[in-house]
Amino acid sequence: MIEVVGVPVLSDNYVWLMHEVVTGDTVVIDPAVAAPVLEAAEQRGWTISQIWNTHWHPDHVGGNAEIKAATGCRVTGPAAEAGKIDTLDVRVKGNDIATIGGLRAEVWDVPAHTAGHIAYHLPSAGIIFVGDTLFAMGCGRLFEGTAAQMYDNMLRFAALDDATKVYCAHEYTLSNAKFAAAMEPDNADIAARLAEVSAMRERGEPTVPTTIRQERATNPFMRAGTVEELARLRTAKDNF
Ligand code: ZN
Ligand code: FE
Repeated sequence: MIEVVGVPVLSDNYVWLMHEVVTGDTVVIDPAVAAPVLEAAEQRGWTISQIWNTHWHPDHVGGNAEIKAATGCRVTGPAAEAGKIDTLDVRVKGNDIATIGGLRAEVWDVPAHTAGHIAYHLPSAGIIFVGDTLFAMGCGRLFEGTAAQMYDNMLRFAALDDATKVYCAHEYTLSNAKFAAAMEPDNADIAARLAEVSAMRERGEPTVPTTIRQERATNPFMRAGTVEELARLRTAKDNF
């Protein structure tokens, strides 16, 4: 039994707290900062036992040291970026397994936003933590990788079960939805989701998690048919 709660921090980051009810195991995914995360855990009576990082960017690992000092938790993150994350205890790469309680999280290599970016997929819970690789209606910028790598990542995400919940690390959905509507003006699903997301943001509600079903219908990057199309979309979004 898994519960996931989001802690909104900085301007648009989500830090995810995942709690396994039977064992009490509690994992923080990508703590940008420490204090609000420690407070959110404490409010629920959860003791943080692990941190899982998806990539080295400071808005994903900035809270590692302080949370580790406060809780003695174990920090798992991408082996390929270990040189840039000095708090790592466990280095993982694609096909490795992380565990929460008795549940397995498969580690995926999803390079493109950063060269060593990883995702954590929990098949039994129907959950994937994608960091800055897949966003609701968007994808991460290509800082250290290529459009071809991002295209492969999108194919792999798209092959997950429809109902899989996608937890990304930023609230970028409204901007992504406006871009998607500009790229696919005749797509009724995108138009409907733009309206829905606008209303949710006006009410101050989070639009994450999303699902693979929603992304397949409304995410232009996941819908791109070729590497070239994804590359063109990414360049267009960078300048949107
Ligand atoms: Zn990032
Ligand atoms: Fe980020």
